[in-house]
Amino acid sequence: MSLLLDTHLHTRRHSSCSNINEFALIRQAVRTGLDGLVITEHHYQWSDDEIEALLDASGEPGFILLAGFEYTSACGDILIYGLAPQHVPRFEPGGDPERAVDRAHALGGVCIAAHPTRAGLGFDERIAHMRLDGIEIRSTNLASHEQRLARNLAEQLGIRPTASSDAHRIYDVGVHAMEFDAVIQSMADFCDAIRAGSFRPANPIIQRKAGA
Ligand SMILES: [Zn+2]
Ligand SMILES: [Zn+2]
Repeated sequence: MSLLLDTHLHTRRHSSCSNINEFALIRQAVRTGLDGLVITEHHYQWSDDEIEALLDASGEPGFILLAGFEYTSACGDILIYGLAPQHVPRFEPGGDPERAVDRAHALGGVCIAAHPTRAGLGFDERIAHMRLDGIEIRSTNLASHEQRLARNLAEQLGIRPTASSDAHRIYDVGVHAMEFDAVIQSMADFCDAIRAGSFRPANPIIQRKAGA
């Protein structure tokens, strides 16, 4: 059995650029065929208490709800997962991307380059030196030619491709997602699966239609 997770999205609670009502989020994710979500606000990681309260309110106790955060470096955005909450505010916006990845690794986390080839918001050649655990090749924030460029970049660098929605609007939740082979019940499981590379980009909408 595999699991479908959307691992990059924002809610209005902690990202002013998003209009996703967090209380509608899980219902929408279940409707889209997702087994879980990883919320990644800008420079903020949901606390365990917040996660638990939202899950309680959702009436979907089996749903997998986790949190990382999205870090805006001096050149490009990095999704960082698996850090203890007290470390998150220490990642000052606009810092050196290589150093951010190394620090996150030293703290036990994993790092994925978000929309790396997005016009005006992508990475420069420094991406070749960042010890990334994944490169997003599909996102609602990548046009189709940018997705092709991102796929080529991941291939060239030998880094695993990932896919996630980067949803800021409820109907974008699950437009892109990843399929995991491993059992994921915690952020530690999620980080292990990313490090092991036991996942692949998935398209929940196409898969749902195929199964219907
Ligand atoms: Zn971003
Ligand atoms: Zn984002």
